[in-house]
Amino acid sequence: MSKIQMNVPLVEMDGDEMTRIIWKMIKETLLEPYVELKTAYYDLGLKNRDNTGDRVTIDAAAATKKYGVAVKCATITPNAQRVEEYNLKQMWKSPNGTIRAILDGTVFRAPIIVDSIKPFVRTWKKPITIARHAYGDVYKDVEYRVEGPGKAELVFKPEAGDEHRETIFNFKDKGVILGMHNIDRSIVSFARSCFNYALDTNQDLWFAAKDTISKKYDHTFKDIFNEIYEKEYREKFAEKKIEYFYTLIDDAVARVVRSEGGMIWACKNYDGDVMSDLVATAFGSLAMMTSVLMSPEGYYEFEAAHGTVTRHYYRHLKGEETSTNPMATLFAWTGALKKRGELDGLEDLVGFGDKLEAASIKTIEAGIMTKDLALLSNLPEKKVVNTEDFLLEIKKRLDNQL
Ligand code: NAP
Ligand code: MG
Repeated sequence: MSKIQMNVPLVEMDGDEMTRIIWKMIKETLLEPYVELKTAYYDLGLKNRDNTGDRVTIDAAAATKKYGVAVKCATITPNAQRVEEYNLKQMWKSPNGTIRAILDGTVFRAPIIVDSIKPFVRTWKKPITIARHAYGDVYKDVEYRVEGPGKAELVFKPEAGDEHRETIFNFKDKGVILGMHNIDRSIVSFARSCFNYALDTNQDLWFAAKDTISKKYDHTFKDIFNEIYEKEYREKFAEKKIEYFYTLIDDAVARVVRSEGGMIWACKNYDGDVMSDLVATAFGSLAMMTSVLMSPEGYYEFEAAHGTVTRHYYRHLKGEETSTNPMATLFAWTGALKKRGELDGLEDLVGFGDKLEAASIKTIEAGIMTKDLALLSNLPEKKVVNTEDFLLEIKKRLDNQL
């Protein structure tokens, strides 16, 4: 059988620990035998980030802008302990943060759905994708502890014109104050990413905030979404028969729980932080969560939502067998290959991605799975396998399909 050819390279960002090991296994077992992989390879492993003064992360992000599609392995975000463990020159910043700042994107997280693993919410049948605004609000706030009586004011000094001043509160006693901000440019690019992703994946888009209470702050988010939708997207959504609507965040929560799923739920920064953990947990496992960063210009970076699974890696280093779930990392690869195929008009590459995803889901449906899933699956007969054997079982089913 001849291998599937690619025209344009995929940006490949290698990573750390257990996921780096899984990365190699996936390539060797499930990709390279079938696809003449063409990648622009960047080693984002912590050692190499340190050796290059983190240049490699910036180069990888630039390459993503050049080629349009990237696939990323989980990476360590160093803390003090890691600086010691890897003898680092510096406590390098989170690669995801660096890449996101360069691509200016929004992260969409969606679960991989398998029949025998039931979400905690009975009505959910299709994935719920959470889009979290990744800038500002409480994550870039200024806080102040009021220790006694006094007046708190909100003051804005424009570069030109008169100062704006409002009383926040006249304190009679101790209390707290918080100041936060956002910027239109960031909200606009968040909105565009969400609308584009909805069109891309043929799903309805919901956006929720609390504009009835926050009449300027949250209302600005609502207005920006609305304006962009009316100007640029209403017709495109109608053509695809998908819907955009805004609702209050409390109403959205109630509706999501009663829904079948299958929508994109755009959230402000804090709501997205909370709701993505809620949705991920309700669907079962972090190991089954995929993540894609989409920029407003239409660049894509696919990855797993989980980290480098350090505890499993240390066991692996001791020579112990691990049953680490490779699904989310595998789906990062299939997502990226399918997107590459779509952009380059390579139907066989798209078809291969679909078949590989189907084969992996069939494997779990057949009762063969990693340890984490065995705890969630309601199949009567389950066989727990190690990562390598799990990938070989997928390969068997893939070969049957091809
Ligand atoms: P983690 O790697 O996601 O793992 C946390 C725990 O979740 C694991 O110990 C394991 O539980 C379970 N788990 C996660 N993925 C799994 C999988 N594929 N298969 C089976 N079980 C899985 O998070 P962490 O331990 O907090 O972070 C480890 C490192 O990852 C850190 O250095 C952090 O900086 C980095 N990180 C990177 C990213 C990224 O690159 N996107 C995201 C998050 C964290 P059990 O041990 O109980 O089996
Ligand atoms: Mg969180």
